[in-house]
Amino acid sequence: MKKILVLLTFLFVIIIENIYSQELNIIPKPVNQVTLTERFNLNDECRVIIQKDNKEVKRLAEYLKSDFEKRTGLKLKIDYDKKSKGIQLKLDTSIKETDGYKLAVGSDNIIVSGNNYKGILYGIQTMKMILSHDKEFYLPGCRITDYPRYPHRGFMLDASRHFQSIGFVKKVLDMMALLKLNVFHWHLIDDEGWRIESKKYPKLNEIGSYRDSLYAVERNGYYSQAEIKEVLKYAGERYIKVIPEVEMPGHSRSVMASYPELLCPTGEGGKTYCAGNLKSYEFLKNVITEILDLFKPEIIHVGGDERPKGVWEKCPDCKQMIIDKNLANEDMLQNYFMKEICDFISKKGVKTFAWAENIKDGIPKNQIVEGWHPGESWEAANRGYYTVNADNWFTYFDYPSYPRNDRPDWMRVLNLETAYSFNPTPDSLQESQHKFILGSECALWTELVLENDVQYQLFPRILAFSEVVWSLPEKNYEQFLYRVKKVKPYINSIGFEFEKGAW
Ligand SMILES: [Zn+2]
Repeated sequence: MKKILVLLTFLFVIIIENIYSQELNIIPKPVNQVTLTERFNLNDECRVIIQKDNKEVKRLAEYLKSDFEKRTGLKLKIDYDKKSKGIQLKLDTSIKETDGYKLAVGSDNIIVSGNNYKGILYGIQTMKMILSHDKEFYLPGCRITDYPRYPHRGFMLDASRHFQSIGFVKKVLDMMALLKLNVFHWHLIDDEGWRIESKKYPKLNEIGSYRDSLYAVERNGYYSQAEIKEVLKYAGERYIKVIPEVEMPGHSRSVMASYPELLCPTGEGGKTYCAGNLKSYEFLKNVITEILDLFKPEIIHVGGDERPKGVWEKCPDCKQMIIDKNLANEDMLQNYFMKEICDFISKKGVKTFAWAENIKDGIPKNQIVEGWHPGESWEAANRGYYTVNADNWFTYFDYPSYPRNDRPDWMRVLNLETAYSFNPTPDSLQESQHKFILGSECALWTELVLENDVQYQLFPRILAFSEVVWSLPEKNYEQFLYRVKKVKPYINSIGFEFEKGAW
């Protein structure tokens, strides 16, 4: 009986290998792919062929060349002659889907064509993932048509609770580009630390960036403006949008330690701006102007979540503001506060993004809502607000992937299969409102996570997330798991280990 079972298991593994090997091991899974028996062998004769006079395609060709050279030791050349044997990179206006690409690998040539430059980059990422090796390096024959499901495919990294090096942030950006993620939401300010160099308010760094001597490892410091510019350039070269986050009115203990005059005069709510004090608005407008000048972002995140309740209602200045502005209560005072700041930002031509709070009482027009509790993005989309569905049950990768005693009880277990099962556009949302769901973000809050442990929290779950936001909604978990195992060695080779034993 035991022998029969062993034999059956063996046969099952062979059948699965045969079924799944019909598809290439690419994550996120492409929209459409056909595999061919031929293959393209890489050697020193191979050229990267581009059109003359297009600097951006040339830059992408250099990017591909440098990656393949590092991995194969071969010397590729960039050429303008289409008759050469090699990898051709080109723009193709017949591809209609934004950021879409086509990849055709034959025995003599490879053609990567993109709807735009981003499309070409995504075609290159797919090639990086399928580069194989037996006696020699080769790319398996295929025809791929691919494009993203959502325009907003984000990763949020908390640099406040623990602080990561610039080198590590760049490694994260490389990994994001490989997984075709295009938004880096950088959580730079929270209770535990202010992480942006401010020339206008130096105490934010002298005091606000060095708050915690108790857990000094990776808890103290900030990014200089020059370092931030370096990250912005690196992200831009990978077409990754950087969204800096400035928390308000709560989660601001690092600001209050630096400039305590911004607290309510009652001294309560040690992490919240006093909304009755005009100096709070003046400070935020000044510091946001400095941050906008530095980042030049399309979007800035203004926090907005978890203001301690009951503080403003006890403060004479906040109570006076509620009367003066004819507001119903302190929740409406938060709406007033956020609207003041968001209107100021909008006038500078920058969009605002905030955690869902008080949606039913109205939020600033044009603000993008980040839903993090189940149902919040559904409510936002239903009310006609653009929204990013970062439902914490599926996207908070600081949560454990298996039951753990060293994590707080409120953290749900979020395993790989749950992460994979997420659909950012809820079934119950009317089709007319689907357009308001811009996509999703996965988040890594770092209260309990040091830089070296980030990799174990992210992998393999971020692979599931990349399919959630890029691939078609049809799912096959077993097949996904098969591909996860196949791409693991490559992910390890770019510097990310997987969590052990949890999947
Ligand atoms: Zn107050």
